Amino acid sequence: MENISTYNFKGKRAIVRVDFNVPLNAEFQVTDNTRIRAAIPTLKKVLEGGGSLILMSHLGRPKKAEDKFSLRHILYEIESQLGTPVLFAPDCMGREAAQMTAALKPGQVLLLENLRFYAEEEGKPRGLAEDAAEEEKKAAKAAIKESQKKFTATLASYADCYINDAFGTAHRAHASTALIANYFPNDKMFGYLMEAEIRALDKVLGAPERPLTAILGGAKISGKIAIVEHLMDLADNMIICGAMGFTFIKAKGGSIGNSLCEDDQMPLALDILKKAAEKGVNIYLPRDVVAASAFDNNAQTAVCPIDRIPDGWFGMDTGPAALEHWKEIILNSKTILWNGPAGVFEMPAFANGTLQLVEFVAEATRNGSFSLVGGGDSVAAVTRMGYADKVSYVSTGGGAMLEYLEGKELPGIQAIGAIRPS
Ligand code: AMP
Repeated sequence: MENISTYNFKGKRAIVRVDFNVPLNAEFQVTDNTRIRAAIPTLKKVLEGGGSLILMSHLGRPKKAEDKFSLRHILYEIESQLGTPVLFAPDCMGREAAQMTAALKPGQVLLLENLRFYAEEEGKPRGLAEDAAEEEKKAAKAAIKESQKKFTATLASYADCYINDAFGTAHRAHASTALIANYFPNDKMFGYLMEAEIRALDKVLGAPERPLTAILGGAKISGKIAIVEHLMDLADNMIICGAMGFTFIKAKGGSIGNSLCEDDQMPLALDILKKAAEKGVNIYLPRDVVAASAFDNNAQTAVCPIDRIPDGWFGMDTGPAALEHWKEIILNSKTILWNGPAGVFEMPAFANGTLQLVEFVAEATRNGSFSLVGGGDSVAAVTRMGYADKVSYVSTGGGAMLEYLEGKELPGIQAIGAIRPS
């Protein structure tokens, strides 16, 4: 199968699904251009190969066409990152878009307006009353699926080949992320970002060098249970940090004070511990914790054993003994996957555990281990410390990465198929 490295782009119009869903400030300036920068190698490859580019993306969650969600706001940022002028089609459908795409010359770039100005992109009916009759809902669903076909075919008609480089939306079966691929049976491929994301994830989930340690943190175990279960068959070690740990500790009979806990998940936590013991997976819960008298950056703090948090106090960050213990496990791991902070790291007083984990993962990487960091908060911690290049891979796709870790097939990946072996 063709791939972006071997494909001949000479004289071809490539339609590229990028993830340019970037944050904007009140003046509509891009405040974080990471996603735009991440797509540049793919875009340059097409242009340098003699092709032209049609870029398509969503921005935000519009329910209709609205200027505040217009991709025109980010034209300047794309132009400055790509180093070339970018044309703009103010509607991704219609005669103007058709004319502009048909007129594209090699080396030219055109950005289509926000795909989600059309409900057909996601293929879900809009504006239906909550209490609409079942019949009405069914009819609306059927109607949007029908018009989605036309929408997809129109997008496909603009180009000779299709590239998906939007890992962040790969878990969605939308027109631009999956359905459009059917129109290009021999001319569809992943962009470099997608290839890199899939390779990095497969290095962890495929045949990882062992020991494989998964570090799972954050607020809730309920959101990560599918990942824990999937990793149970793969990982040698699992470090449970952040508030997730308290549900396990309380389930085991510990006192956790006012710490965040999901009582309804306690039976599940015990079940995980039992399964892990059966499968020979080591689960490492924190030994100690930095507790605080209030959920506040300026509260009084004390280090205490994880199962003896005083009444009324909150477990806020990983304690020093736990960090020392985990350091050893991380440094002895050959593959490391990290998702979720080790404490309330948004508050400077409780960021230490998360920042220390960044150090440990970076040190293990320096020593030759493979490390993959994903999820908004862990990525933010790594970036904040300027350590993005000190770990092996930082995943750009939050939800998509989590679903991949759950062992799900992502529609955006399925639609294209295999990537070339590395
Ligand atoms: P998640 O979205 O599940 O990855 O959770 C991330 C959130 O978990 C962050 O906002 C952290 O502040 C929060 N978190 C981590 N540790 C704790 C803790 N000990 N108590 C309360 N919240 C925590």
